[in-house]
Amino acid sequence: MNAIPDLTLARLKAAAGPNGSIDDPADMAPYLTEPRGLYTGRAALVLRPDTTERVAEIVRICAESGTKIVPQGGNTGLVGGSVPFEGGDEIVLSLTRMRAVRAIDLENDTITVEAGCPLTAVHDAAEARGRMFPLRIASEGTCTIGGNLATNAGGNAVLRYGNMRELVLGIEVVLPDGRIWNGLRGLRKDNTGYDLKQIFIGAEGTLGIITAAVLKLYPGPAVTATAFVAVRDVHAAVALLGIAKRESGGQVSSFELLPRIGIDFVLKHTPGTRDPLAERHKWCVLMEMTSGRAGNELRATMEAVLAEGLEQGLVLDAVLAESEQQAKDFWRLRESMSDAQRPEGGSIKHDISVPVSLIADFIERATREVEAVVPGTRIVAFGHIGDGNVHFNPSQPPDADKQWFLEQWDKVSDIVHGIAHELGGSISAEHGLGRMKREEITHYKSAVEIDLMRTLKSALDPKRIMNPGKVV
Ligand SMILES: Cc1cc2nc3c(=O)[nH]c(=O)nc-3n(C[C@H](O)[C@H](O)[C@H](O)COP(=O)(O)OP(=O)(O)OC[C@H]3O[C@@H](n4cnc5c(N)ncnc54)[C@H](O)[C@@H]3O)c2cc1C
Repeated sequence: MNAIPDLTLARLKAAAGPNGSIDDPADMAPYLTEPRGLYTGRAALVLRPDTTERVAEIVRICAESGTKIVPQGGNTGLVGGSVPFEGGDEIVLSLTRMRAVRAIDLENDTITVEAGCPLTAVHDAAEARGRMFPLRIASEGTCTIGGNLATNAGGNAVLRYGNMRELVLGIEVVLPDGRIWNGLRGLRKDNTGYDLKQIFIGAEGTLGIITAAVLKLYPGPAVTATAFVAVRDVHAAVALLGIAKRESGGQVSSFELLPRIGIDFVLKHTPGTRDPLAERHKWCVLMEMTSGRAGNELRATMEAVLAEGLEQGLVLDAVLAESEQQAKDFWRLRESMSDAQRPEGGSIKHDISVPVSLIADFIERATREVEAVVPGTRIVAFGHIGDGNVHFNPSQPPDADKQWFLEQWDKVSDIVHGIAHELGGSISAEHGLGRMKREEITHYKSAVEIDLMRTLKSALDPKRIMNPGKVV
């Protein structure tokens, strides 16, 4: 028996329109579990409306009947935010049929897209008109613009272009009472009161359903210079970043940290990968610069940065990509790092950020303290250190029992998150809170901040139908 009355379900199906609903358990299954399989829930119905008006009608029915809604995009979020709980009294509202590019304005450098548009489709549409949309993440073939906004997604080019908050100019939202707010403005300047769009960005579907957005476009790069660099240690990596930013005049687009152990895991488990450097170094960085001006200037800048790094003893060795393929090979090492940990047994994942200046201190301290609690654990600390964001993912000791190791999760996370917090950092730099960190965040935000978040939630969603049990 469904927890939602049959009459309500019938109204919801009708509102979703032809081909807009799924109630067969086998067909619903992919919408009910997320990629790591950590969370699998139940739902009374999966709805896939194809217009904003249909979304609004569905939400009106839910508001009237008190039916809880879980908004879903590509379902690539990794914190349980996009899937329902186990009770079966929620519906999943997937935006994946709303994938149109509504407009491109080349003079304003904007693109207006529907929320279910996959990120790669936005890249393609921009590139077809000689522009670039700079958000790049490994899940880009599946994740959607609505999900990217709802999680304030970051990725590889935040250092230069910012995360989703900085890349959006306007949004269209269906509010929890079913009203549509059309905030699809393409303005770079608008000082007419509260910036309402920002309330919905990073809200993980708890305040409304984003149905469309106006995004910023940029000129595509004419040249890219990519270097794989061995550095003395993490302090040296941060110092090198400083040199690169200064010397290039802001052309550094990515600056990623790769530890020896992570590189070794990738080389062992990812066919077709090779170490770009002849010797084994403890820490490496993948540095990329881009320029809109053709010619050799950018390469010369990269060489000058590396030369200064060598001179100062920060750089131990480096190789500059000679071709697009070689640059892709460097990136493959970075992108495979998370997956390559899996065959090594259990790993305890963290997605923290601290001020860039404290990254090295964080890694040193967290490594020391986690190793003291779980001797033999293998720390894989990698990621977007140009933004102060580290994936600090201890892998189990080789001979340990996986289950036992995973049972240490809370103890290890308390240490890692505690240190990040002490250093003025965040326990979730990219993936959000979802279901996974909803309780934990209350230990790290002040009572005032939590109270403000709850006030906002109550004001916008007094009936608590919008993704309840997530974030706050
Ligand atoms: C291999 C891999 C690599 C990743 N790399 C990165 C990375 O580098 N940087 C990064 O930031 N993230 C990364 N992620 C996480 C994930 O891809 C992002 O969080 C992404 O933005 C989620 O988009 P989605 O469409 O899949 O959203 P979903 O997973 O479907 O949803 C995520 C949250 O947003 C809500 N939501 C979805 N659509 C809407 C909407 N239209 N309106 C309101 N709420 C909505 C959901 O309810 C949920 O709470 C990665 C994930 C994977 C699997």
